[in-house]
Amino acid sequence: MTITIATTTATSSASGARKSRDARTIRTLREAVVVFGGYGSPRLLAVQLVALLAIRLSLGHFTVWDAIIVAAVALYWPVQEWVLHAFVLHMRPRHVLGRRVDPEAARLHRVHHRHPWQVEHVFLPSSLVVLLVPVNVVGWWLALASGPLAVTGMTAMGAAALLYEWIHYMTHIGYSPKSRAMQAIRRAHRLHHFKHEGYWYGFTAPIVDTIMRTAPDPHDIETSPTCRTLGVDEE
Ligand SMILES: [Zn+2]
Ligand SMILES: [Zn+2]
Repeated sequence: MTITIATTTATSSASGARKSRDARTIRTLREAVVVFGGYGSPRLLAVQLVALLAIRLSLGHFTVWDAIIVAAVALYWPVQEWVLHAFVLHMRPRHVLGRRVDPEAARLHRVHHRHPWQVEHVFLPSSLVVLLVPVNVVGWWLALASGPLAVTGMTAMGAAALLYEWIHYMTHIGYSPKSRAMQAIRRAHRLHHFKHEGYWYGFTAPIVDTIMRTAPDPHDIETSPTCRTLGVDEE
């Protein structure tokens, strides 16, 4: 049996939204790459990755610890995605001591849920990436005594961030991926957007949702009426 995921979208009236590219009109891999390269976050992350990769290759002295660090980042990243998505991006505004607490990341994620076909809302904000690049570099430098291993960590984390941006983007565009793995990722993320926002929190590795029990059989759950609003009236 197949699941039909409703993908109709309301006409946007959000300010600036009309200028954004409709992701569904991106129908070839070549076009996907060109559009991807036109946005700030993918560009910054690509520059970071190329620079770090060049530095790491020039340093040499590869050991088994480099492979262990890359494997650790590969395991950590999908878990981080799930945790941040479930607990930060889906955090509802609340009042604490009379003040409204509404993290910018959560607000922007609500915009993404309201306008899932607008490419500009798929990516991390460039202003955030500009902050994360030095955090990545300094964090690894302080954490590891070895220079080459620290650069391996920075490079692996930078690669994971760029891969996340690409995969999330691929789930939203009109181009249908050929690989089974990408098709599974795309289906899971579209279920999160159009079936129920309380499940399928993973972006790059649906297995995390299986482990965390947030990947139910879509036939067993009702379509959520708050997929687009996340239950917050605004905008
Ligand atoms: Zn999305
Ligand atoms: Zn979400």
